[in-house]
This record gives sequence, structure tokens and C-alpha cells, in this order.
Amino acid sequence: MLRTWFSIPLWKRVLLALVLGVVAGVLLGEQAQSLRWIGDLFIRAIKMLVVPLIFFSLVSGITAVGDVGRLGQVGGRALALFFVTAVISVSLGMALASIVRPGDGLTISLPAGSAVAPPPDRSLIELIVGLVPDNPVMAMAQGSILPLIVFAVLFGISILLSGEEGAPLARAMEAGSRVMQQMTMLVMELTPFGVFALIAWVAGTFGFAALAPLSELVLLNFVGCGIILLFVYPAILRLIAKLPVIDFYRGIIDAQAVAFSTASSNAALPVTLRCVERNLGVSNSIASFTVALGATINMNGTAMYLGVIALFGAQAFGIDLHWTSYLLIGLTSTLGAIGAAGVPGSGLVMMSLVLASIGVPLETIAFVAGINHLLDMMRTMTNVTGDATVAVAVGRMANEIDVEEFRSADDV
Ligand code: ASP
Repeated sequence: MLRTWFSIPLWKRVLLALVLGVVAGVLLGEQAQSLRWIGDLFIRAIKMLVVPLIFFSLVSGITAVGDVGRLGQVGGRALALFFVTAVISVSLGMALASIVRPGDGLTISLPAGSAVAPPPDRSLIELIVGLVPDNPVMAMAQGSILPLIVFAVLFGISILLSGEEGAPLARAMEAGSRVMQQMTMLVMELTPFGVFALIAWVAGTFGFAALAPLSELVLLNFVGCGIILLFVYPAILRLIAKLPVIDFYRGIIDAQAVAFSTASSNAALPVTLRCVERNLGVSNSIASFTVALGATINMNGTAMYLGVIALFGAQAFGIDLHWTSYLLIGLTSTLGAIGAAGVPGSGLVMMSLVLASIGVPLETIAFVAGINHLLDMMRTMTNVTGDATVAVAVGRMANEIDVEEFRSADDV
């Protein structure tokens, strides 16, 4: 029986767990709460991987690029694509929410005790200063991802600059990266059980009744992500990478399934890396660098979602927005998407940054929290697909993609 179980591809097992989870949730109702610990166990196991995985992948990705000049070129292209797609996504979110106006006519009634604490009052300068860790070990211990990325990038560049003397460390980092990917594969075997428990809990506790008043919002977010997946990414693939879209989607489906069911770009990271390298033929250095960086800072689904919810909150609370508010939403949502960690729910946390900037009550967050996980699944899948899109485009520009491999992209 075990052998049959392991012979089924992971994404199929995860989808099966998803369906069974909904059924169990509906049957068990409130009692599904008792399954939650299995989901918590799974999420803790994922969180355990995040810091070492990001550190090793990023450093080894940088050292594999080989020299600092080339790194600047590859990194610059990846960052430019991350930025452009984020701006398109948040604009799309705002446009959709302006047309559909999902917040109109809603009288927000909040669950008792759901008052949301205001975000810490930090200025932009403080945010920028906070990017540099004063102690890298502490940043790792506290799981502060952006300072960790800054340290990892400098560490990788310094290994490159050290030439021959740094070479053994480069090899050690490469080994560390492989080992962490292997470890993630082990943890991923827990995915079906975690997904089953989490979905059963969501379906049992919130039920469909919780969804009804917000169904328009859910639909809007799904449509937004759909547009990014069907038009924005294919445009990049066709115009920049000049490669067929169908083959791309065939090669990336495993990563999408894991992203959708775990709602975590980080959890999907190893699978994304594998798909990008093995199915889409992008070289190891471009793949590890772009995908590891993208899992944390490239979140188009999240940017779109932040734009939609900001307008939704303003509409629901009857707040008129000035054109400068739209600019602020664009800016804070882009920053929020960069700052959100690739773990479940982090986009919701970033919401406070966006809402506070335009004076919309933070209670909006409590209102959306009930459906957050559902939206999170879809936006995470969009985020991860964006990482793969940029990896393919950058790989193509640097002539580091095996086109034959890409065209024959298939499920591993
Ligand atoms: N869960 C998302 C991700 O991992 C981030 C978010 O909450 O928007 O990509």
C-alpha cells in the first residue's frame, strides 16, 4: 500500500487530500478543529526549512553565476522583471476593484474581539535601515527574511570576490543547498496530510456560510490571478523569452499544485526549482538565484490582492480616495509584496501597511481574514508561477536555457 501511495505524483496526492479535506470538514463541522494539530505540525515543519533553504539557495545561486559583472546583469534583469510585473499586478487589482466595487453596500459587522492593532509606526527610512541586519545570526534566529537576504547576497558576492580562496566555501554552499532541497522533499511528503487537516478545519469551522457575503471578493481575486496567469506571464514568455506558453505550463504544474495547497511560496520553492531546472531547462545558477530570490520578493498575486482589498476597504467604509491614494496603494502594495514572506498568510499581515497609508480602518483585515486562506492559495500559485516565468525569461536572455528540454517539458 505504501508503495502505491508513493508511486502517485505528489500533486495528485495533494489534490486528493484537498477534496477529502473538504468532505471531512463538511461532515465533521466544528469537530474538524481536532484535526488542526496535524496542519500545525506541517506548517511548523515548513517554517523550520525556510531560513537555511533561502540562505543556501541564494548564496549558491550567486556563486554559481561565476563573476560579479555577470551577476549584476542577471540580477538587474530579474529585479527589473519582478518590479514591472508587481506594478502591473497592483494596477490590475485596483482597476478590477474600481470596476466591480465589491465593497459597495456592505455594512461591515465584525466578529467580537477582532479589533486589529495598528501597525508599528515605522517610517520608510527606518524600514530601509532595518534591511541591513546588525547581527545576521539574530536575523536568522528571528526569521527576518529581508535582512537575511541582504546578508546572503553580500556573503555570496564576497565568496565570488575571494576567488580561489573562497572556492571551497562555494562548494560547501552548493552542498548545503542540495541537502536542504532534499530535506524539503522529505517534509513535502507531509503535504497531503497537512493539506487534508487544514482544509478540513477551514471547511468545518467557517463553512460555506462564511463565504457567501464575500463571494464577490473571492471571485474578483480569482479573476485577477487568472488574468495574470493567462495574459501577463504569457506576454513575458512570448515577447521576452520567445518560448511557447503551453510547454511552460506543462512543466510548472507540480510547483503550482504545491503552491496552491500549501499557500506558501517557500514550501513550493524546492519543487519550483526542480521544475524550472529539470522541466524547463533553465541552468542551475540562474534557476537557484532567480527562484530563491523570487520566492521572497516576487509576489504578483499578493500585489494584486493588496490593491483589491485596499479599494474594497475604502468602499466598505465609504472613504473617498484621491488620486494620490491610488499612488500610495501602488507604492505600499509593491513594497508589501516584496516584504511579505513566502509563508501562509503573510500578505494579510502586509495589509496593515497598505490600509494605514490611505486611512482605511484596519478592521478591514479582520473582515477579510475569514476568507484569507482561500485567496492565499490562489495568489501563492500566481506568485510561484511568476518566479518561474522570470527565471525562464532571464535564462533565455542570458542564453542559459536548454530549449529542447523546455519544449519537451513534462511532469517529473
Ligand atoms: N502566502 C503567499 C506566498 O507564500 C504570500 C501571501 O500571503 O500573499 O507567496
